[in-house]
Amino acid sequence: MDYVFKMVVIGDSAVGKSQLLSRFSKNEFRSDIRATVGVEFQTKTVLIENKLVKAQIWDTAGQERYRAVTGAYYRGALGALIVYDITKHASFEHITRWLEELRHLAGPSVVVMLVGNKCDLEGLRAVPTEAGKELAEKEGLLFLETSALDATNVEKAFHMVLERIYRRTSRKSL
Ligand code: GDP
Repeated sequence: MDYVFKMVVIGDSAVGKSQLLSRFSKNEFRSDIRATVGVEFQTKTVLIENKLVKAQIWDTAGQERYRAVTGAYYRGALGALIVYDITKHASFEHITRWLEELRHLAGPSVVVMLVGNKCDLEGLRAVPTEAGKELAEKEGLLFLETSALDATNVEKAFHMVLERIYRRTSRKSL
């Protein structure tokens, strides 16, 4: 293994964090109800510029409801997906709070992808694509809309973050 990068997936409860992680790491959309509550992580190895990069991706697994997401969860994270649900405007309004917490606890240079999930539910859309784009530009974040259900942009969202971390890390070690 050439590199191991820690990433976190954050955002309000039920926006699809676990399904995004499951789609990326196992190419599955889970139909079961989550059995365990607690922080868990998945790993997936990807190839970037001929180097093996292992992503170790942490999921809050329901704990965000109890504000139990702590410093240990964020510590050492080099990248993050901050996820909202395009059908739930409140989940979009909370993005800046998640971003503040992330930058405070993981450090200001963490690579962040803003993710508008559930884009398969176009008919129920409550957050325009343009609003996501604008927020991302204002805060200096990458941005994509995804669907964990039909796999739209999921691989790409994780990959873009890992690539950006890789470019920084490999530049530093030259
Ligand atoms: P978490 O609490 O943020 O980890 O959210 P979950 O991954 O548990 O997903 C919450 C609910 O939204 C579940 O019923 C999922 O099946 C559903 N869900 C997650 N992602 C998508 C998606 O991309 N499209 C649709 N239609 N439903 C999704």
